[in-house]
Amino acid sequence: MPRPILATIHTTALQHNLARVRRAAPDAKVWAVVKANAYGHGIERAFEGLRGADGFALLDLAEAERVRHLGWRGPILLLEGVFEPRDLELCSRLGLWHAVHCDEQIDWLSRHKTHVPHRVFLKMNSGMNRLGFTPQRFRSAWARLSALPQVDEISLMTHFSDADGPRGIAHQMAAFSAATQDLPGERSLSNSAATLRHAQDAGVRADWVRAGIVLYGSAPDFPEHDSAHWGVQPTMTLSTRLLAVQQLQAGDTVGYGSRFTAEGPLTIGVAACGYADGYPRHCDTGTPVLVNGVRTRLVGRVSMDMVTVDLTPLQQAGMEVGLGSEVTLWGRAGNGAVLPIDEVAQAAGTVGYELMCALAQRVPVVVD
Ligand SMILES: *Cc1c(COP(=O)(O)O)cnc(C)c1O
Repeated sequence: MPRPILATIHTTALQHNLARVRRAAPDAKVWAVVKANAYGHGIERAFEGLRGADGFALLDLAEAERVRHLGWRGPILLLEGVFEPRDLELCSRLGLWHAVHCDEQIDWLSRHKTHVPHRVFLKMNSGMNRLGFTPQRFRSAWARLSALPQVDEISLMTHFSDADGPRGIAHQMAAFSAATQDLPGERSLSNSAATLRHAQDAGVRADWVRAGIVLYGSAPDFPEHDSAHWGVQPTMTLSTRLLAVQQLQAGDTVGYGSRFTAEGPLTIGVAACGYADGYPRHCDTGTPVLVNGVRTRLVGRVSMDMVTVDLTPLQQAGMEVGLGSEVTLWGRAGNGAVLPIDEVAQAAGTVGYELMCALAQRVPVVVD
């Protein structure tokens, strides 16, 4: 029998979350962002749940090929554009749309031989200062692009740095609007946080929203709001089983570094999941976990293949627990209880994005 650890991808939750995005931006088209192998879910495994989107947005050309191989004939957008001139050949062949964020990418396009002109998304750096043309340089880039026979329609895009927080998006909206006012073409501005928090404004919704993390059931602005607040469901469950149960006495310690000391008699369970499965080692005593769907806590340090959990709440509830009992590290337990990935991420000092993307290769994955 294999180790009992398992990740489950929930197709109906992906569909539910996509519908939630559509409610937030009813008149906009939706890019399902599936970069990083669909945020660790696996593009092929997430496809059924996300095929109701209007297009797929990603970074990696090999991932774009995988989406086409799944039979997707609709739009695919390369969010960072191409990385070298010959990537443009694949764009022509597969009909990929691509961002254009720098002069070199325009140079490459101008030398590219193609019978099919490309749909491009010209990117403005409106304040994030990663990719894109500054507002001052945006119009000349647009003029250069629009003169190229290799270019079909030009859409306009930018990306928000603070859609999830107090600074907000107004300063970037102002920069974008001022520099693009009289330019034709579709617009795409909003990530998940902007879509949920700011899309009452039609200018923020624009023509396309780019939804990533919200599709995967995580709250982009946790802990200000949680997934229940936004009405999204977990799309990945990481579950395992208890391998052993130990009875501790007062003064007994648990695990490497003896990080936890029992104050009195205590029953703990040992679960088959560790940092080599992608469970963060930074989680320590107190991190929430579900055993048989009942919320309890980690005790002691996470090791490579095991974690140790406090079984007191189950005993108090008079529940049977022992070898083989179900342990849910994040996602949905068999009894329907949910442990949001955001809470586990917070205990590790990170965000849900990183945990889902870091699911380890050795963990078997099933789709339900
Ligand atoms: C990753 C990404 C998104 C999606 O961001 P979320 O916070 O996951 O919604 C949108 N736009 C661009 C350019 C991205 O790189």
